[in-house]
Amino acid sequence: MRHFTAQELDAYLDGNVNGLKRWQITRHLKVCEACRKQREDCERDRAFLAEVRQGIETHEAYVKALPVTQVVAPSLSSRAPLLNRRYEH
Ligand SMILES: [Zn+2]
Repeated sequence: MRHFTAQELDAYLDGNVNGLKRWQITRHLKVCEACRKQREDCERDRAFLAEVRQGIETHEAYVKALPVTQVVAPSLSSRAPLLNRRYEH
């Protein structure tokens, strides 16, 4: 009995594996703890990536909705203390 690779399990989760191979993986997952764990890891990675992607999209939508001054100004004011410190003697 050979184990399946992460790529194979990934394709399986994507629904990109059909026919005999799909049946083999399904059957193998029922009896193989290691591959089941691997598949769970894949699913966890996917959930995490989906969350990150969602977070980036939300952030981009938020930044795009802001007026330009609000996007630029905070970065300038955060640098100001450093500039001031240089001349405080
Ligand atoms: Zn296995």
